[in-house]
Amino acid sequence: MANFQTHLTASTVLGIGYGAAGFAYLGAPIPTSILAAGLCSVSGMLPDIDSGPGRPLREITTFMAAVVPTMLIHRFERWGMSPESVILTGACIYVAIRFGLSYFLKHYTVHRGMFHSFPAAAIFGELAYLAAYSDDNMLRCFVAGGVVVGFLSHLVLDEIYSVQWDGAPRLKKSFGTAMKFFGEGWWPNISAYAKLIVLTLAVTVDPSVMQGLQTGQIAQSLRRITHIGQQQPVEKTAAGGSGQSRR
Ligand SMILES: [Zn+2]
Repeated sequence: MANFQTHLTASTVLGIGYGAAGFAYLGAPIPTSILAAGLCSVSGMLPDIDSGPGRPLREITTFMAAVVPTMLIHRFERWGMSPESVILTGACIYVAIRFGLSYFLKHYTVHRGMFHSFPAAAIFGELAYLAAYSDDNMLRCFVAGGVVVGFLSHLVLDEIYSVQWDGAPRLKKSFGTAMKFFGEGWWPNISAYAKLIVLTLAVTVDPSVMQGLQTGQIAQSLRRITHIGQQQPVEKTAAGGSGQSRR
């Protein structure tokens, strides 16, 4: 299995590319591009929070404890919370993640269980989408996509490292335990897919998604993504090769 350093290096390189592509092709602002790149980098460690006490769990929960309350500040403000309430809520979330979630993950997870799976990648992507509150759905999807890309890079690397090359390829026992839709045992599967369904519902009923559907912003965002390849040469020609304008 790939070690911590390999995962982090791969996801960081991917994150830099992802952030740069978002800035260049989607017109994402620099801070949003850096945030997406950083989340992609850190998400390269995310699946290994099921590996018990150790560096991945410590690093990830520390990072999440600091970043999650910060990402939720816009949402708290939208809810009309006072600055004092925002600080107190942020502190509570920090403690809950840093100690509560950390304790839970340490004691109640199995390595290469459902944290190493496609539904888990979708769950963390949806969590990032809900946390990254913004009026621009494209930017929220971009930030959430960073988490999914980093997460998937981990699963791919784990599978690559489960093939041993000693003259001929030999599959280790761990092969197929990272890139999977279903794990062993019925409860982990039910639990993972129940979370996925609840979060998918939460994303679809999110006020900004409803608003985006009504105003056509989501359709517009999808057109921006699907037409990037076609628009680029036209815009370059029109702008004398300087690329599209950025916000
Ligand atoms: Zn792993």
